[in-house]
Amino acid sequence: MRWTVLGYQSPYPGAGGATPGYLLESGERRILIDCGSGVLSQLDRYCRPYELDAVVLSHLHHDHIADFFVLQYAIRLARQMGRRTSPLTVYAPGVPEKWGRLLTYHDAIDWRPIEKHRETSVGSVRLSFHRTDHPIPCYAVLADNGRSRILYGADAGPRTDWGRMAQSPDLFVCEATYLKRNVPPHPSGHLSAEQAAVAAERIGAKRLLLTHLFPEYAPEEVKREAHPHFSGTLYVAGIGFSIRLG
Ligand SMILES: [Zn+2]
Repeated sequence: MRWTVLGYQSPYPGAGGATPGYLLESGERRILIDCGSGVLSQLDRYCRPYELDAVVLSHLHHDHIADFFVLQYAIRLARQMGRRTSPLTVYAPGVPEKWGRLLTYHDAIDWRPIEKHRETSVGSVRLSFHRTDHPIPCYAVLADNGRSRILYGADAGPRTDWGRMAQSPDLFVCEATYLKRNVPPHPSGHLSAEQAAVAAERIGAKRLLLTHLFPEYAPEEVKREAHPHFSGTLYVAGIGFSIRLG
């Protein structure tokens, strides 16, 4: 499996950046996980949007779905031009309902509510979805192709039960929304770089990729706060960062 960062910033993209979006490739299959602002223009470096096999939206906050609505246009157009014969399968929660009802679009999208589809397969990749601690329903994604496992934490607060989702994943992609200097007095629904590292160590992750970063953070600053708490291999996300596992 190959995991590529298409966007990693939040809550808005910095210059030339993008909010969360990741391309998961396994064999001939391509899965887009989250589709934030700026993600589609990054995706086009790797494949055409109509070549995707599936999309997973972890939750319906705009930093994770903004470009999904133009992806709908791309798929509809591809169908009209005969470049794609089937709708694009999208796994996403249906709430908040005011956004959930926008997930389908003409004949472009086959929406499968995560609430009813907690496990699925795309080619040889088994995907399972697990609730995190976040103000709206949000789902972490465990991708397993039988040789390696990637746990994508989506947006998650300190009460998230990572141990229930996976032990010793080959890669843990975890949010690091806060640094020590800006952790709010009562943080809710997000983690600091240090908390992400502690969580990764606790579940025995082999590699940790820190993401969901404020555009003004310097990568060295993020790494410095996480490093003392994690004994595996540590990475900080950037556009185009890519890692290949078995
Ligand atoms: Zn977010």
